[in-house]
Amino acid sequence: MSKKVGIPRALIYYKFATMWETFFTQLGAIVVVSPETTKNVREVAIEIAPDEDCYSTKILHGHIMDLKDKVDYLFVPRFGSKHKTDMGCPKFIGLADVLRSLYPDLPKLIAPHYNVAKYGHTKFDFFKEVLKVGFVFTKNPFRIIKAMRKALKADKENKKKLIIDMETLHLWEQSAILLNIPPDEIKDEKTLKIALVGHTYVINDSFCSLDIRKKLQSYGADVITSEQMPRELIDEQLDKLENRLYFEFEREILGTIMYFLENGGVDGIIHLMIFSCGPDSLAGELANRFALKKQDIPLLQLVLDDLTAEAGMKTRIEAFVDMLRWRKEKHATHIPTLRVS
Ligand code: SF4
Repeated sequence: MSKKVGIPRALIYYKFATMWETFFTQLGAIVVVSPETTKNVREVAIEIAPDEDCYSTKILHGHIMDLKDKVDYLFVPRFGSKHKTDMGCPKFIGLADVLRSLYPDLPKLIAPHYNVAKYGHTKFDFFKEVLKVGFVFTKNPFRIIKAMRKALKADKENKKKLIIDMETLHLWEQSAILLNIPPDEIKDEKTLKIALVGHTYVINDSFCSLDIRKKLQSYGADVITSEQMPRELIDEQLDKLENRLYFEFEREILGTIMYFLENGGVDGIIHLMIFSCGPDSLAGELANRFALKKQDIPLLQLVLDDLTAEAGMKTRIEAFVDMLRWRKEKHATHIPTLRVS
């Protein structure tokens, strides 16, 4: 009988979903991904997760509880970094150990470790970890290698679709193309262009992000997200900092904000931050300082946690969009940065 592997729909699942799902399916495993975050998942998470965890990590605990009685294995990789200097969040590395110590009755954890920046892991180390994981499901190394190749290819194709190139970005900035289809009822109004910036696992979790992306589209805004931005442009922006920003995911966030503050091309920027996230506090503060120096593009920073009320957030977003629309019509400039939680 096929073995069932559970993958919590949280944190870096949103970065590597295609790759992981392809790999396990190719090995003949049944992949069970926990459902989208719901109020119930959040309530369980808040009840059991350590208080000091960030909101996004807490949510993962809720997904683990959803999966634990349905699967033979849980996949919780210890992903440190794939870059020689830049790091992921330290929470990703310790997560599997935290889960093991908090919940002794969990199914077996599959927790491969990969960390180029800290341990100098090479492609060969990656390959060894892949083989170790693969042997849980098959004894045939050639099948594992084939599964790995397919998974890497699927990941590459997925990123190719997700990340836009410079030419597409410039066309969008000049309002020559839209990245999303605007809702019918506001077709005739001028389309606003908004950059929605934040962690992949926040932007794509519609419950945790209070579905901001869809809300903005329903208000007639065409949205670009930080995960869609060309990588070379992000690196170019970050090279302008006096000191290197070592948090890999935060580079995507800050690089996007810096780019649009410097070059315009959008009517406004919304930065989704997570309560008690260390890397976010750093990137948020830097973004705030840049925005204060360059006030042509309004920046709204929203801090999300389990106490965030949807009605209050909706009012803030609507007010921001109204202000952007008014500003666009009046060609007004110099709107200060707003940070609300
Ligand atoms: S980067 Fe921030 S939000 Fe993400 S897991 Fe780490 S502390 Fe949490």
